[in-house]
Amino acid sequence: MTAGAAGKVVNAMTIDVEDYFHVSVFDGVLPRTQWNTLDSRVSANTARLLQIFDEYEVRATFFVLGWVAERFPELVREIANRGHEVASHGYAHRLIYDQTPAAFREDVHRAKGLLEDACGREVAGYRAPSYSITPRSLWALDILLEEGYRYDSSIFPIRHDRYGISVSERQPYPIERPKGRLIEVPASTARVGPLNLPIAGGGYFRILPYRWTQWGISRVNRLEGRPVVFYLHPWEVDPTQPRIKVGRLGTFRHYRNLHQTESRLRRLLTDFAFGRMDALVAHAREQMVDAGAHALRLPYCW
Ligand SMILES: [Zn+2]
Repeated sequence: MTAGAAGKVVNAMTIDVEDYFHVSVFDGVLPRTQWNTLDSRVSANTARLLQIFDEYEVRATFFVLGWVAERFPELVREIANRGHEVASHGYAHRLIYDQTPAAFREDVHRAKGLLEDACGREVAGYRAPSYSITPRSLWALDILLEEGYRYDSSIFPIRHDRYGISVSERQPYPIERPKGRLIEVPASTARVGPLNLPIAGGGYFRILPYRWTQWGISRVNRLEGRPVVFYLHPWEVDPTQPRIKVGRLGTFRHYRNLHQTESRLRRLLTDFAFGRMDALVAHAREQMVDAGAHALRLPYCW
């Protein structure tokens, strides 16, 4: 168990740093060629989150889009200078299973270079747009290893219409590939009977009542003695962002309860302890060393 000074489990706070128009739900309605013409709000919204984290003395991991780092390197520097971890969300926010392996390699290589140039630190972590490492894009893990990434947070162990490998592990685990070992740190779920229920972030945090998240994190912290991985986006604390026309489901997923996110986040930061994801990765590596050869047999199958 990872425990804080007060004995609370220290969970991982993670932010996927992208603009409101990068979100995959707009892929079919907003051409990428228009991105440069839109009013960017990512710097202001991320600054808002940085201020909130300072107030609560929380350090987090920011998975920053290379597109953002290219335009706003000072934002990436500021994230690092305030004691947070900078990680990669790829360059162009393309779903992995819609790309060729060569295009994916170019995307993650470009993002890592831009981020490291901006913050002057090594970038070890990666999270795919919309958790798009699925059974049809597992080749991406080898490319991440070859490009110098050391952990990944892209395999969501749930059933969903666009992502997820429902039978994958729920807690950090090693993935052995021909190219080496990657630590996978999945977004968190609560195990209820045969089901993995998403409990820790994004649309689930905004759309469902706060009590759902509170229940889920308490359950994992208390019953399993383990930390959760929570995730959020800067645009989720921006209720006045420009409205993009998209279908009913997309509108519901993107715009529902935006005005409540900040107050919910403040409540969350009061109720639970949070830190950076690389602390979870280091803890997972220690456990693997302690477990010796057994670690190599940890299940990774579907
Ligand atoms: Zn994203």
